[in-house]
Amino acid sequence: MGLQTRKVQRVVTPQEVMEGAGVRLRRSIATRELDYVDPFLLLDHFGSDNPEDYVRGFPMHPHRGIETVTYMLRGFVEHKDSIGNAGRIGPGDVQWMTSGRGIMHEEMPQPGPGGMAGFQLWVNLPARLKMTQPRYQEVPSARIPEVKRGDGTRVRVIAGEVDGVTGAVTEIAAAPAYLDGYLPAGVTFSQPVPRGHAAFAYVFEGEGAFGVGEDDQGTSAVSPTLLILGDGDVVTVRAAAKPVRFLLVSGKPLHEPIARYGPFVMNTREEIQQALDDLRNGTFVR
Ligand code: MN
Repeated sequence: MGLQTRKVQRVVTPQEVMEGAGVRLRRSIATRELDYVDPFLLLDHFGSDNPEDYVRGFPMHPHRGIETVTYMLRGFVEHKDSIGNAGRIGPGDVQWMTSGRGIMHEEMPQPGPGGMAGFQLWVNLPARLKMTQPRYQEVPSARIPEVKRGDGTRVRVIAGEVDGVTGAVTEIAAAPAYLDGYLPAGVTFSQPVPRGHAAFAYVFEGEGAFGVGEDDQGTSAVSPTLLILGDGDVVTVRAAAKPVRFLLVSGKPLHEPIARYGPFVMNTREEIQQALDDLRNGTFVR
């Protein structure tokens, strides 16, 4: 038996939402249509040529029980947090923040050449790590390996492994892959993803077909589109007439109860109430 190609199970059109102090963004996970893709709890695609759409940013706010992953394409995010990190991430940089029991932080987008664009993904923490010590990993663009194939394919490996190259971010509970892939027109790409792991692709430039097999044209998607992939061994992508650029993200599902309330994601309502009590009592950040 050969390896099974993961077929597209669901096609999701991102919804425009307002978040933070007035940031316009495209959300495709954590909507009424799609609550979560265990272990992924949220996917936002931000970006605009108009600073009015984002400069109000995300002033100081808490998180508990999750990891927030920010990946920049253009422009900058100025940030600071309650565990002493402060600075600015820019094009190609990644910030992988494990909130654990509690972090307060501020995320303020700033324009750069070509405006501002990027992604924020929320990765759930297993129950045993929800109250772990907060951890912060910042990876500058230059430290993110890029795999280049002879056919013109380029894949930035933020987490996971491509062609034997290990990503910059490691030791994450969900054992995730987080790839930024570019395929020129006419090129096919395939990437193993462990069977049983959740996987999705997010097309953010051009157009490509996913779940392509020997006798299967797959499912075509034009930017911006989220594609939830069914189970199998391999993700396949083909760029036909146009190049395509996409995120490919996978991770091990937790299969645990989810209680979410804004920036807190726990297992029970009582734990959410505890987070609110801790905030009120000044015991949230310890
Ligand atoms: Mn945040």
